[in-house]
Amino acid sequence: MLTVLNPATEEPIAELEQAGVEETDAAVARARETFAAWRAVAPADRGRLLRRLATLVEEHSEELAGIESRNVGKPITGARSEVAMVAQVFHFYAGAVDKRYGETIPVAGGEALTFREPLGVVGLIVPWNFPLNIASWKLGPTLACGNTVVLKPAELTPLSALRLAELVLEAGIPEGVVNVVVGKGSVVGQRLVEHPDVAKIGFTGSTEVGRKVMEGAAGTIKRITLELGGKSANLVFADADLERAAAAAPYAVFDNAGQDCCARSRILVQRSVYDRFLDHLVDATAAVKVGDPSLDETEMGPLISATHRDTVATYLEGIDGRFRGEVPESDRGFWFPCTLVEATNDDRIAREEVFGPVAAVIPFADEEEAVRLANDTPYGLSGSIWTRDGARALRVARDVDAGVLSVNSNSSVRVSTPFGGVKQSGFGRELGMHALDGYSDVKSVYISTEE
Ligand code: NAD
Repeated sequence: MLTVLNPATEEPIAELEQAGVEETDAAVARARETFAAWRAVAPADRGRLLRRLATLVEEHSEELAGIESRNVGKPITGARSEVAMVAQVFHFYAGAVDKRYGETIPVAGGEALTFREPLGVVGLIVPWNFPLNIASWKLGPTLACGNTVVLKPAELTPLSALRLAELVLEAGIPEGVVNVVVGKGSVVGQRLVEHPDVAKIGFTGSTEVGRKVMEGAAGTIKRITLELGGKSANLVFADADLERAAAAAPYAVFDNAGQDCCARSRILVQRSVYDRFLDHLVDATAAVKVGDPSLDETEMGPLISATHRDTVATYLEGIDGRFRGEVPESDRGFWFPCTLVEATNDDRIAREEVFGPVAAVIPFADEEEAVRLANDTPYGLSGSIWTRDGARALRVARDVDAGVLSVNSNSSVRVSTPFGGVKQSGFGRELGMHALDGYSDVKSVYISTEE
């Protein structure tokens, strides 16, 4: 049995059966049986079903946000925005179903056409930090393209995916199109990766497990999309609006208690304004409201588990941080304070993904060094550039190795724009129209017109 906990109270909130290989195979078989019928649904009707799902998510938004907040320990306000995004994602892909066309290509002796074909059964494996959100980023384009799905949520956070599966049926999407299997990554996940009837794996998780997915997929030459870890840089130049950059920076790291692949956990600051910026940053960090996730005013909750809290703590052993915030005085809950550490880019804290509310603040001399330090990491997911110089913003945006960047903002995830990483942050793109490429193959057909 799997006991699901509320990380803020450590209370059990559900007991679930865990699936094994047999149940995984049964889910794949169901998805396979349904594939022909689902791909044959007329595009407008498939769009209508996804639209109905989006509307049901909106109608159940408070319930879904509550589940997510209790299961992940995330503040209810953040959980509400995430559920709003889930609905928006299904609305977007409902509209996208009939807006992707093939081509006609001039060739000798006839006509060449392309078709976008669904892949078949797609395995979706998601992490615990944004369980429903990330599931929707994959489900939307997968279903829009006409594939059927086996979705494996993270063991720690299966509840919102299970509720979503009920809403999928309520929306009228036929049984067998979306199959949720709760179980261990090493069992259910691994089986999906190796299963000969699974055509593609959409994976979000750590780089370490992503590597295993890549190895496992080689056996069947399975298509994979990998959304992996990050160690993103928040570049603050001396000519930036420093107050604004400093006020925003804590939320770019401590949101979701730092358990965010896009966390700008390396704050790189130009040396000439370093002290001034750091003072603002400490004030802004001290103002982050940490506490009961069910309260509207709470900005940061606990970490996901005791084990994860222990791992995060190892990054601070022997380090005298520049700032350490407060946590609730309860003996229950996996709390960890907002922490700022002055570091160099070579320190462990600046190299590894801590995945907790810990930021490394690092000085740089000039634009050349800023770009060099930003790129001196195995990762390449996200990042921010704060400057009032438009030309510099563009230069640096082109030079930083990352899949998603923002200028004078820390917000780079939107339903309609592509999201994904470079280097060891993975490959493939989610969201926007680009995600559809990952869940379909292009078929080329030549028709001779010769008599
Ligand atoms: P994880 O890699 O431990 O697990 C992710 C998923 O993979 C879970 O469902 C897990 O059960 C499954 N899994 C584990 N072992 C497996 C195996 N051998 N085969 C197949 N599946 C297996 O990651 P996590 O701890 O749940 O999430 C945190 C990580 O996810 C962080 O590294 C974070 O950066 C990353 N992440 C990336 C993105 C992104 O879009 N790039 C978004 C969110 C989180």
